[in-house]
Amino acid sequence: MNLEDIQGIGPKTKVLLNKLNINTIDELATFYPFRYEVLAVSDLAKTSDGEKVILTGIVDSAPNVFRIKRKLDRMTFRINTGNNIFRVSIFNRGFMRQHLKVGEYVTVSGKLDLIHQSITASDLWLMKLNEPKILPVYHTTYGLGMNQLKKFIDESLKVKINYTDFIPDDYINKYNFLEKRASVLEMHHPTNQAKLKQAILRTKYEELFVYMLKMNLLKQEKHHTHGLERNISFNDVSAFIKTLPFTLTEDQMKATKNIFEDLNKQYAMNRLLQGDVGSGKTIVAVLAMYMNFLSGYQSALMAPTEILANQHYLNIKNLFKDTPINVALLTGSMTKKEKREVYQKLELGEIDVLIGTHALISEEVTYKNLGLVITDEQHRFGVNQRTRLKEKGTTPDILYMSATPIPRTYALTLYGDMDVSSIHTMPSGRKPVETLLKKNSDMKQILEKMFMELKNGHQAYVVAPLIEDSEDSSLENVEVLERKFKRAFGSYFKVASLHGKMSDEEKDKVMQEFKENKIQVLISTTVIEVGVDVKNATMMVIFDAYRFGLSQIHQLRGRVGRNDLQSTCILISDMEKERLKILTETTDGFKVSEEDFKLRGSGDLFGSRQSGDLVFKVANIKQDFKMLLYAQKDSEEYLKTEEFKQDLENNKYPFLTQITSLD
Ligand code: ADP
Ligand code: MG
Repeated sequence: MNLEDIQGIGPKTKVLLNKLNINTIDELATFYPFRYEVLAVSDLAKTSDGEKVILTGIVDSAPNVFRIKRKLDRMTFRINTGNNIFRVSIFNRGFMRQHLKVGEYVTVSGKLDLIHQSITASDLWLMKLNEPKILPVYHTTYGLGMNQLKKFIDESLKVKINYTDFIPDDYINKYNFLEKRASVLEMHHPTNQAKLKQAILRTKYEELFVYMLKMNLLKQEKHHTHGLERNISFNDVSAFIKTLPFTLTEDQMKATKNIFEDLNKQYAMNRLLQGDVGSGKTIVAVLAMYMNFLSGYQSALMAPTEILANQHYLNIKNLFKDTPINVALLTGSMTKKEKREVYQKLELGEIDVLIGTHALISEEVTYKNLGLVITDEQHRFGVNQRTRLKEKGTTPDILYMSATPIPRTYALTLYGDMDVSSIHTMPSGRKPVETLLKKNSDMKQILEKMFMELKNGHQAYVVAPLIEDSEDSSLENVEVLERKFKRAFGSYFKVASLHGKMSDEEKDKVMQEFKENKIQVLISTTVIEVGVDVKNATMMVIFDAYRFGLSQIHQLRGRVGRNDLQSTCILISDMEKERLKILTETTDGFKVSEEDFKLRGSGDLFGSRQSGDLVFKVANIKQDFKMLLYAQKDSEEYLKTEEFKQDLENNKYPFLTQITSLD
């Protein structure tokens, strides 16, 4: 059966239903209300004038209908509640006049006017309201009213008898869930609050279970993508670790071991390495590349900006200086000749580690034997770019690095198809950045503090508010601030700015001068956000901080505090101080991102992929997170059962056989 077999649904209505994403009888029957209204008779002793009330009683006078103009009428009648008589007036219900018979029951909801003993009603029901009644409220679309929609849904509930329950019996029993059909009926026609709650719970769980089943299956499949054969000995890795200028932190070591195990496994690695800015992810990447080198393969490390690619290149080249590893750089701004040379060497296998921007995935690049792909700040890359890089090798191992830490539980779902390593602790000797929240009127004090910092030989970042979608106003902000700071400090220190309108060479030049302490105050938009490492910078001032996301500010402030000196980050904002306060209380990026997540939802934190995937009909990723964790565990368990194999054979989960990737 299809939609048009339901009485009243013709081609026109079908189009309207399609707009609501209802294409089948199934979808009509499971088109659930988006909220419920509870109808309960008001206690007049507790209501005051002007409040909304619900009254039930009998019609006390025959209704009068006044036609005000075309398509606007007003109907009035009296209602007797047993204790009181009120005059009721309601617009556009003239068509109900003949149903409103004196002496019969009626319920109205509307605004109470005590002085005139009247009610301006917005709703009217031809019934007596004995006990509280729960009314479902549905999303509708222009041309299709709620009552009509309800009628169609009811029809679909009559014809649809068999429901596929995506929750396996074991879990239905374990959680004492309602049976599927009963639950669907309850969602549309709630009997009471308690039962409705059960139905909602069950419907949410089912959605989340199916989602996690998909995720877990995907993860399992990825683990079965055959990868490169390797047989690396950890002793060789340890020997190299001993040559490093510092001792690895515990989490760095743990991540390194995770990667070591992944690489030795016969399945391709698909791992996310997350950790705060400055937590030392690069060295872990370097060790991964070292292991990959030991097994005879080339590595590619892709950074989102030229500045960062350059920095990685110099740093990594230095770390590998006593090894036979050849490190090369490839960026868009290199000359054709330089690039050609890199291409050639790469194809011949004379380059072991290639570092660059997305130039790494351009057409001309051919690797001899790409074995490992690492992307830094992975959330900045489009999915296509990542996939293209992957395709440069047959089945290279992949490591994604991200400085937007996601609490482990969220990562589980957002990156459910990846394994995750997290670095929680900062390298020792680091002092947490002190963060202060100030108002614009505190400017004098802020400038004084900055002057002291500069006088002590340190450097400072000034971050101009980023105006979304408006390069021009952001630029203007940078220029205004540059003038101001030049006026304040110009005769003692060099002030310069960095902005999006500059060419890559200009940017690099300014950055280089800042690194060499030829510039003391650097003003910029968020260009410096990603990865820039200037140890002598001990202060950051962020203007109009309310314009930034919490995680974004957290990333920004990671630019300071990169040595054993006490660093300060000053957030200037006259607005949204409550939200920004968390930054003054913690320097744990996981906590910050959790807060950000709670406040803004995942959609803003991550790319479109995740947000699109996390839209559920009834469940809410934030509110129902606990349940999601249960669904995660249960589905993982279920995936291993004989029953699941049979379900797959019987095509119980048709959507599972179609997936090959969430991208
Ligand atoms: P991020 O995680 O932001 O990429 P980096 O890898 O750039 O961080 O590391 C930040 C700084 O910390 C670098 O200068 C690096 O040399 C240093 N570092 C990394 N690990 C350690 C460690 N275990 N002990 C001391 N310093 C470290
Ligand atoms: Mg980094």
